[in-house]
Amino acid sequence: MVMRIGRTLPPAASPFQLKDIVSGVAGLFEGDGIVKTFEDELKSYYQVRYCFAVSSGKAALVLILQAMHKVYPERDEVLIPAYTCYSVPSAIIRAGLKVQLCDIAPGTLDLDFELIEDELENPRLLCVIPTHLYGVPSDVERLKKLISQRDIFVLEDAAQAMGGEWEGKKLGTVGDVGLFSMGRGKAFSTVEGGIILTDNERIGQLLEKQLATIKGYGTFDCLKLIFNAVALSILISPRIYWLPKSLPFLKLGETHFNSSFPIRRLSSFQAGIARRWETTINKFRVERSANVNKIAGYGFRPSGASNGNMPDLVRFPLLVADIVTKKKILRKSEMMGLGISDGYPNSIDGINELWNIFNVKKFPVAKDIAERIVTLPVHPYVSGNDVKKIIQLLKLHTKQKRCYV
Ligand SMILES: *Cc1c(COP(=O)(O)O)cnc(C)c1O
Repeated sequence: MVMRIGRTLPPAASPFQLKDIVSGVAGLFEGDGIVKTFEDELKSYYQVRYCFAVSSGKAALVLILQAMHKVYPERDEVLIPAYTCYSVPSAIIRAGLKVQLCDIAPGTLDLDFELIEDELENPRLLCVIPTHLYGVPSDVERLKKLISQRDIFVLEDAAQAMGGEWEGKKLGTVGDVGLFSMGRGKAFSTVEGGIILTDNERIGQLLEKQLATIKGYGTFDCLKLIFNAVALSILISPRIYWLPKSLPFLKLGETHFNSSFPIRRLSSFQAGIARRWETTINKFRVERSANVNKIAGYGFRPSGASNGNMPDLVRFPLLVADIVTKKKILRKSEMMGLGISDGYPNSIDGINELWNIFNVKKFPVAKDIAERIVTLPVHPYVSGNDVKKIIQLLKLHTKQKRCYV
């Protein structure tokens, strides 16, 4: 690891300010009503009948999967892209279900729709999880058509895409159920948090019942949240970020497989932080897309984005020539504090804890992407000067100007 002191960009950031934390503390005094208000506002913004705010995206996933499994108890397998966030398989296992993988299509970050047809014949398949990775939209409509009349749910993982839109549709509302994460590094953050959206009456009712039985945050957990919110709001700034980054015990930017996480309802503190969510997500969207367009202006295209319009990205995913090039870029970026970062360290079948599950099938495209992907920061702290430096570094290490596949 390189130690750097001085301006250092985090790979992703959805900063909140002191006034948001004050609003969070005020929320504590307002109680559960403010969580309900937040959920009601989301319902009307997204035009869905059910919305539930919980402690994380992982928690949302577990609750959704358990509700789906109650509808079709004979189905217990969940199909996910072979390249995605490690939280997804951990939530599936936490829900007591089995992980199945589908490779992604070359040149995209989306499920390979040709490979998937066979998988859909599986009578034990409960649900497919198309994912808007880094904000690159997955073709959820196409998946729904392929599934047609089968009893298979579509769980739209919009963890990284809160506020994102594609072809006139709000991401998170296209599948049977959608979810957002409000963890740090996502499109909008309340320290941690997750949102479930659905119009499915059966799933909505089951979730409502289930949510009534799970606990909220205790006093100590709320204090921890407040402490983390204050720390995060200070340390995420590029002026300070070198400091937490240089502390190895914080394990910033590391990805781990972990199935033991709390499942709670969102606290009124978090709902208080989210009070101005609509203004904030739109502001972030505008600021990020300005950076995305600047990068695209130099001829770089995000991997996975097919046609002309740029998607609403939280990070700009880019495929480089090979793993050696990737390592060079990451090392230089670290020295210069540019915030270019690795994707997930491996495809899902390469996760150590899951070694005994996928012993036969291979997922070559996911493996290749895991080796060659880097993500460029586009968050509100990224300045025009930062973009220039990032582009200079990339041009040095990519022979052709366009290094996407
Ligand atoms: C972050 C993330 C999750 C999990 O969200 P948490 O709030 O971190 O638990 C799920 N899926 C994807 C694609 C993610 O990026």
